[in-house]
Amino acid sequence: MTSLEMKMPALLSQPLKMLIDGEWVSSQSGAHMDVINPSNGLVLVQESLGGAYEVDLAVQAARRAFESGPWSRMRPAERTRLLLKLAEALEQNGDELALLETLNTGKPLKMARAFDISMAAECLRYNAGWATKLSGETRNVSLPGDWHAYTLREPVGVVGLIVPWNVPLAMAVSKISPALAAGCTVLLKPAELTPLTALRLGELIQAIGFPPGVVNIVTGLGHEAGQAIVDHPGVDKISFTGSTSVGKSLLALAAGNLKRVSLELGGKSPVFIFADADLDRAMDAAARGIFGNTGQVCAAGSRLFVHRSVADRVIEGLVQRARSLRVAPGLSPDCEIGPVISARQRERVMGYIDSGRAEGAEVVAGGQTVQGDGFFVQPTVLVNTRPDMKVVREEIFGPVLSTQLFDDDSLEQLAARGNDTHYGLSSSIWTRDLRTAHQMVRRLRAGNVRVNAAAALDFAMPFGGYKQSGWGRENGREGVEAYTELKSVAIDLN
Ligand code: NAP
Ligand code: MG
Repeated sequence: MTSLEMKMPALLSQPLKMLIDGEWVSSQSGAHMDVINPSNGLVLVQESLGGAYEVDLAVQAARRAFESGPWSRMRPAERTRLLLKLAEALEQNGDELALLETLNTGKPLKMARAFDISMAAECLRYNAGWATKLSGETRNVSLPGDWHAYTLREPVGVVGLIVPWNVPLAMAVSKISPALAAGCTVLLKPAELTPLTALRLGELIQAIGFPPGVVNIVTGLGHEAGQAIVDHPGVDKISFTGSTSVGKSLLALAAGNLKRVSLELGGKSPVFIFADADLDRAMDAAARGIFGNTGQVCAAGSRLFVHRSVADRVIEGLVQRARSLRVAPGLSPDCEIGPVISARQRERVMGYIDSGRAEGAEVVAGGQTVQGDGFFVQPTVLVNTRPDMKVVREEIFGPVLSTQLFDDDSLEQLAARGNDTHYGLSSSIWTRDLRTAHQMVRRLRAGNVRVNAAAALDFAMPFGGYKQSGWGRENGREGVEAYTELKSVAIDLN
């Protein structure tokens, strides 16, 4: 399919509205901004910028839908059924959703369809099942007399969901689906740069017949709409995915009513390639892990540690892979790597590459922008990097790999080098030696560890960070329980 043969989604035919209490509305202030296609810098449509007023309306609607019970007291099997219908609707509208995602983020259309949209549907299906499976338990108490004691899992209430721009639909769904399965009602704020698929999702939610107010979507700026959500006394919990700096800044505001807070933040994840590894697979995975989605992945393997005896071969292999990846607009059929999300993000990434050069790193692949109107950065490999450099310490959120060598260090020393970061989101180990693998797994301070595996995202597996990569876990039982309160009930039977 070429871009000319593609039908423009109807969503783009008029300015975007917000979904509040089952109605599509524009912001009261009339404020709006352009939504840009990062592949060519052109305006796709305008979005409405909501603020405290719209957030308050949405919180009231969510509160009504929660308290009066059309969602929180709906039979769990009925919630499951609606969530499964939504998964089905995502699949049925998959081509259109993928096109919207590609237009808005620049990611390859094939990837948007095969990964982003399919993952969102799978996520819904996985979490749909939890509505009927959440449970408390009876407890064996030793109080004097005769007691019936048990715990109840109850929905936490009205939840504010704030998501970033790198995987917009899948990220929105990964928060909406466990929250709804648990019986909460929600207010979603997409990133200001990427509202399209969230709003199309809102249309599907309405078409399927979710009661009004169960899902509200307010578009707007982080420091306005986002902040208003975090500040609102009617919001019981915030689930935020984004940068560590914004995550930290939310805490003071959330303290106003002691909202529950879940945070999925940044990372600077290490990849270890030992001399005995299957080097071809390791190189493929390392390249995909840092260049996929143009490096805009929180769990991107951005720090490579490679054993000196295989370093020449591995770095050469990564350089070749970096150079051969086709950087192109997301709609171009041969696109493997799209642009970064914005001109600002491109400047930021280039600023890091320049700082790497200034601090003595050598660029052995990429390191340049790409001519044209889109916000393209070449896949970049840096060698001669040291642990004190900015490119090694800070999250770049772009296609930039820093490499360091190791000798026959003890695993203790090597893990310490991997752990020398404020972050603790993810890590990968490539070795055929069981002992090395298990010992490294135990020593790494990260929420997710992969051994001899490329990406391994599965909704049954908890995902989240140690240290400054976050609070709490998404996915799995833990991910749904994060949207519940636990009530202890004791009944005196005497
Ligand atoms: P961001 O600036 O932290 O923004 C994330 C979301 O928070 C956006 O919706 C943003 O709105 C909103 N926001 C910004 N300032 C806010 C405030 N003061 N109060 C309330 N909300 C506010 O992050 P980003 O630049 O979009 O995304 C990149 C970062 O996200 C990276 O650091 C990456 O590691 C992290 N990330 C983490 C994960 C994970 O699962 N751990 C996944 C993806 C991304 P605006 O868009 O309007 O600014
Ligand atoms: Mg931002």
